[in-house]
Amino acid sequence: MTTAYCAVCDWSRETGSETTRSDLNRAMIDHHVETGHTPIETDEVILDENQIGDGGIDVAGQ
Ligand SMILES: [Zn+2]
Repeated sequence: MTTAYCAVCDWSRETGSETTRSDLNRAMIDHHVETGHTPIETDEVILDENQIGDGGIDVAGQ
């Protein structure tokens, strides 16, 4: 499963039975066009030791 989320607002989408990877990409682009935000895409398989501590990913803090 791939999840995309926005660190600026609470927008998020994920792939599932009715949402393909291209649907997700399109939704990310739409969100960028509509808001100027850049959604962050996370893929379950690449969440490895480099990205995961014990508390998950923290990219929201500024
Ligand atoms: Zn946003």
